[in-house]
Amino acid sequence: MKVEIITTGTELLLGEILNTNVQYLSRKLNNIGFDVLYQTTVGDNPERMRAVLEQAMQRADIIITSGGLGPTRGDITKEMVMEVCHTEGYLDLDTWGRIDAYFAKKGLCPSQNNEKQAYVPIGAEVLQNDVGTAPGLWLEYKDKIFIMLPGPPSELTDVCEKQLLPRMLQRFSKHGIIMSRTLHLRGIGESMVASKLDELIMAQTNPTIALYARYGEILIRLTAKAANDKEAVKLLDAMEAKVRKSVDNYIYGVDDATLAA
Ligand code: AMP
Ligand code: MG
Repeated sequence: MKVEIITTGTELLLGEILNTNVQYLSRKLNNIGFDVLYQTTVGDNPERMRAVLEQAMQRADIIITSGGLGPTRGDITKEMVMEVCHTEGYLDLDTWGRIDAYFAKKGLCPSQNNEKQAYVPIGAEVLQNDVGTAPGLWLEYKDKIFIMLPGPPSELTDVCEKQLLPRMLQRFSKHGIIMSRTLHLRGIGESMVASKLDELIMAQTNPTIALYARYGEILIRLTAKAANDKEAVKLLDAMEAKVRKSVDNYIYGVDDATLAA
């Protein structure tokens, strides 16, 4: 399943906030076997957001948006998704009741524009938000799935953990998992590692092998796709053994190991 993550918000383009949502979503989805192939960021601009959504429909099966579900006129993600999916919204009384209760708990009343957050696209499923006002939404259009998530990281992670990830696992249960293992090397340069591992790298399929140069060390990341954890560990063990045949003397640790330790 090809996934594109679209993070929205002009503040991201301005560099005012760090795009932690895209990192969180990518990690979570890769860990449960989805291929995140594109990460796009777009501002709160209708034309550009429409173009980005249309582009995503051409190249991904699952399109996940973050942000732009707030009560203000600047929050347009849901409206733009409804446009590209040719659907409309209706006032979902359950969601409105939940928003009302959320404010009541704080001794407040929702303002009129909060009602916008209770509009649900026709045909969409609500992904309940227990820690904020805007729920997530799951909308299927043709053979695409649009998932809209609230922007505030605490809300996005809450909706993901409780609602989205369980649903995705259930829907695509045969998906398998992705597991990575990182070998840390010291005392050898990236080009030398690459040439020593050339044959393995050329022949790689599963697990894949990727090299990264970091300050003072080289990392070899092995990534396996398998039906379950046990299978993945077996694949990684076998590949690690092959890698070690060529560069064992330089490997000082695995995964979270540090040189100091
Ligand atoms: P929004 O619903 O798009 O207005 O987002 C609400 C707030 O969530 C923003 O003001 C940011 O502080 C935060 N936020 C939105 N998108 C992201 C993101 N991709 N990464 C981290 N924080 C975000
Ligand atoms: Mg915003």
